[in-house]
Amino acid sequence: MNTEQQCYMCNREATSREHVPPLCLFPEMKDSKGINFRKDLITVPSCDLHNSKKSDDDEFLMLSLSGLLKNNPVGNFHQLTKANRAIKRKNKDFIEKEILRNHRYGKIQTTDGKFRIISLGNPNIERLSKCLKHIAYGLFYQEFKERFNGELRMILEFIEYSDDNIQTMKNFLKRRFELEKVLNSELKGNNPEVFYYQFHKPDEFGLIGLKIVFYGTAEAYFSFMEKSSKEPFNLGMKLIEGGMNTFIKLGEEKFELNKKNNVNKA
Ligand SMILES: [Zn+2]
Repeated sequence: MNTEQQCYMCNREATSREHVPPLCLFPEMKDSKGINFRKDLITVPSCDLHNSKKSDDDEFLMLSLSGLLKNNPVGNFHQLTKANRAIKRKNKDFIEKEILRNHRYGKIQTTDGKFRIISLGNPNIERLSKCLKHIAYGLFYQEFKERFNGELRMILEFIEYSDDNIQTMKNFLKRRFELEKVLNSELKGNNPEVFYYQFHKPDEFGLIGLKIVFYGTAEAYFSFMEKSSKEPFNLGMKLIEGGMNTFIKLGEEKFELNKKNNVNKA
């Protein structure tokens, strides 16, 4: 019998198992006052190339996600413990270079009237997207027991995009998941304070949706388009990408892409 397993990202032979999401996102017992946030972690077979431990991507992701302002207490605490220890080991300009470009400090007023110093800047979206793509592939493998072969798109809810279209897509996807939650409510992940996820059944175009939530609030949306999926989705995306004024309907709501700003002036 052939027991050889393939990597979750490519067709090479797997040489180890990879945690999905990375282990370092989950607080260690020594930091969590004995609460176990590492219950039944997910691992998938991985080749050497796609083992993210080897590229420091895991630590990058941990520093990027644990520092988000809206995080729940588990995320905040993880930043104060593990993330701060990691930063102390780095060069001073590490944050500026790798995590948040144009880094500067700002001040916000919290709900209890106190001021809090926060970091502002441009997140390293390319690297963040690469890390999250690996997580999406890993969860797909875990869910369907096969490697995803097709096109993956993602939108990160916790990033403010400067592009209006991406912002509209973000609102659209958020709403779509809210509506579908009623029908298909299975949330997965045994450490939900750290991370949970939710897959959707394929839609009429063969598209599979995935929502991942880190530290209670940081949401990322993915759509998996298998090679065999039908044309309408592609067509719709082509219109949007080509700059055509396009509407997507969701129940009674309409989402407009490539808005024509001068319509009212005509
Ligand atoms: Zn691989």
